[in-house]
Amino acid sequence: MDLSYILNHLGEDREEYFNAVAPPVMQTSNFAFQTVDEMRRGLREEFSYPAYTRGVNPTVEMLREKMAALEGAEDALVFASGSGAIASAVMSNVNQGDHIVSIRNPYSWTNTLFTKLLPGFGVETSFVDGNDPANFERAIRPETRIFYLESPNSFTFELQDLRAVSAIAKKHGILTMIDNSYSSPLYQQPISMGVDLSIHSATKYIGGHSDTIAGIVCGSREMMRRIFDSGYMTLGGIAAPFNAWLLLRGLRTLQLRLDRSSESATKIIQALQQEPAVEKIFYPLYEGNPQYELARQQMTKAGGLFTIAIRAASIADVEKFCNSLKRFLLAVSWGGHESLVMPRCLGMALDSKEEGFNLVRFYVGLEEPDLLIKDIRQALEKLNP
Ligand SMILES: *Cc1c(COP(=O)(O)O)cnc(C)c1O
Repeated sequence: MDLSYILNHLGEDREEYFNAVAPPVMQTSNFAFQTVDEMRRGLREEFSYPAYTRGVNPTVEMLREKMAALEGAEDALVFASGSGAIASAVMSNVNQGDHIVSIRNPYSWTNTLFTKLLPGFGVETSFVDGNDPANFERAIRPETRIFYLESPNSFTFELQDLRAVSAIAKKHGILTMIDNSYSSPLYQQPISMGVDLSIHSATKYIGGHSDTIAGIVCGSREMMRRIFDSGYMTLGGIAAPFNAWLLLRGLRTLQLRLDRSSESATKIIQALQQEPAVEKIFYPLYEGNPQYELARQQMTKAGGLFTIAIRAASIADVEKFCNSLKRFLLAVSWGGHESLVMPRCLGMALDSKEEGFNLVRFYVGLEEPDLLIKDIRQALEKLNP
């Protein structure tokens, strides 16, 4: 399906709401029926018909349809946050005694799900280096239910070979899930490579304006129904109609924003290659990346996040560098209009020299890349007075 059609028109039945060009926010908790029989049928099919907004809401439905089409999936479900989407998708597919194989160092709250919350319900997770698909196969136990992937991850951008890992999973009847937030559905299509569920923190690129939190799971109709009947309806972490409306608005410009962010990041990385105070650059489509070929095979482009190792003697130097940046806001998250910076050392003791203390992650927003380059250069100069 044509991308611009999905972003601008798919799922929008304008004659149903006075031919308004922008969709309405259907701000209602419940929907009335004409007869008892209609009500009976409506409640039997809460997965498909509006009865109560915790289940189906027409504004949220538009987003559901567009996201499924963008991922090449049969269906999707929209959640109140990316973490809510991940937790619901995982918890709807495991029982006591089951086992998960995850890539090492997933997103922080996914890690907490695997190491703190799920063990309390008798679900264990093994963490493997995802660079070699064979590591997943070696970690399989009779009770393994899920392979959990994040490719690339959002700090140092390690990839997994999605086709190879999915093939191993299929052979053993294991469900594969990926956190696809880094790429958005525009730059990577995991379902076409055999992955079962593609999950997004829609807070990032899909919302795109740093004003809302949301999450999305895409997959087969059967799997969406399973999650709906389990984690979606019982944990109730659904997106409010207004937040879904903000995401619909974000989708209008997704391609423009993403391409701008990606092109600016590439330009900045090229400029930083010549900087002596930059020891290493981490970016999926950077030629120095040992997984460059794999990135080229499974991603069409790379986004606006990149990380550099700076020539810093201590965390104090890293702080001096970050505090000197004027065009990058010091903040978590990414995917919005504004450029951001975040050092890896945030959780480390101030005198620590542990591995990665000198890593600094940038997110490139919509500002002029030359201004951003100039800003990073002046901050690097502070390192060698
Ligand atoms: C932000 C983020 C999440 C969590 O999403 P929320 O919308 O903040 O709950 C998960 N994975 C990645 C890669 C993220 O960047």
